[in-house]
Amino acid sequence: MAGKMRNCQRCGKLFMQQSREKICRDCRDADAAMEAKVMDFVRSNPECKVPDIIEGTGAEESLIRRMIDDGRFEQNVIKTNCKKCGKEIVGGPYCEACLSSMQENLQSVQERISASSTAAAAARGRGMHSKNLGKK
Ligand SMILES: [Zn+2]
Ligand SMILES: [Zn+2]
Repeated sequence: MAGKMRNCQRCGKLFMQQSREKICRDCRDADAAMEAKVMDFVRSNPECKVPDIIEGTGAEESLIRRMIDDGRFEQNVIKTNCKKCGKEIVGGPYCEACLSSMQENLQSVQERISASSTAAAAARGRGMHSKNLGKK
């Protein structure tokens, strides 16, 4: 006989396991229906976040997370928060403002480093700015 009887991990009902599924057909059907509902909701609410989906569809967060992990949603659907300022963003980890300000910071740091090393080299070469050195 194909498959073996086992208990559905979701509802506990005995079912005939065909491959490696852990949940019974009813639960899989219910999942599929819920996933379709979530997809519909997400399509008509492109700005929605996970809590909105839960509220709008009654889906379990774990199901939504699994769908996210499976890449079921377009990347621009599920928002996260910027790790720096907490602003809602599409894809992480930082928002554009933080990214560009970090880029600017990086740039100005690099400029300062190269400027100061140039200045230091110039100072060493000309023996100037010595009053700024060695004292703190
Ligand atoms: Zn079940
Ligand atoms: Zn930010």
